[in-house]
Amino acid sequence: VIGRILSGKPIAAAVLQSVTERAGSLISCGIRPQLAFVMHGASPPAQVYAARLERQGERVGIQVARRELPEDVSIAALEAEIAALNADDAVDGILVQMPLPPHLLGIDLSSIIDPRKDADGITIQNAGRLYLGLPGQAPPTALAVMQILHAASVKPTGRHAVLVGRSNVVGHPVAELLLLLDATVTVTHRQTDDLGAFTRQADILVVAAGEPRLITADMIRPGVVIVDAGINVTPEGIVGDVDFEACKEVAGAITPVPGGVGPVTNAVLLRNVVSSAERRGG
Ligand code: NAD
Repeated sequence: VIGRILSGKPIAAAVLQSVTERAGSLISCGIRPQLAFVMHGASPPAQVYAARLERQGERVGIQVARRELPEDVSIAALEAEIAALNADDAVDGILVQMPLPPHLLGIDLSSIIDPRKDADGITIQNAGRLYLGLPGQAPPTALAVMQILHAASVKPTGRHAVLVGRSNVVGHPVAELLLLLDATVTVTHRQTDDLGAFTRQADILVVAAGEPRLITADMIRPGVVIVDAGINVTPEGIVGDVDFEACKEVAGAITPVPGGVGPVTNAVLLRNVVSSAERRGG
């Protein structure tokens, strides 16, 4: 079948349904799962994101608490805030607003967030556990890609998975997760020569480059399963990294943007928080 659209919405709804049940069990034991969202400056997009997170959290039984720090907060003050959240037994997950402004880039979030509260899967411990194939908390976007493949009944074993992008939050962890499922994995990036020569070999193509329409129909093989994590704001609206209209005529299955990876990522972030809260509950 060509052109199957892998909508993220029903997949996100199923994840949220299970999160709601798990949070409900915790609440009935007196544990209210809580995610602390640490903000530095309240830019309009950050406010919109925070409000959506709060609304979604409320629906599933997770309290989302904003910690609004000033835009010019120092590294030391941000570190102190994270240390306080690490020490606060009522907090299960810590999420820091991204991207960081230039004056905060020197902070080493991967070392200072308690790995047990690492909702975004960015700590050294969780990255190491992923690399070693041990249970831990991986970045939500990477887990969302895997959740979509699973929901679409795509079996990565023995298939050639090609990643476009190797960032620490998408490409690189997805490569590890696919290797754990015995896919044959190729990781491409900005310096890759002749990108199409690799993408045309893919049975599974996962794209997270941040470049609108980087992947065109001539760069894919008929029947490929495409997961597009790209989110690009363009004059025509939000688009992914894949030329969706042309590629859906060639691909076996493809995620739309928006409405693909994004909603599943938000749901998986909340699942990470409820998993942390379950560990608090013993
Ligand atoms: P990043 O800038 O950290 O990494 C981009 C990666 O893509 C790099 O490894 C780079 O080498 C590669 N790349 C860039 N241009 C390329 C090209 N022309 N050819 C081959 N490789 C190229 O970005 P990121 O944080 O991984 O985000 C990537 C995209 O995914 C962005 O559009 C971002 O908005 C989106 N994103 C989506 C979610 C989500 O929830 N859906 C989450 C995080 C990021």
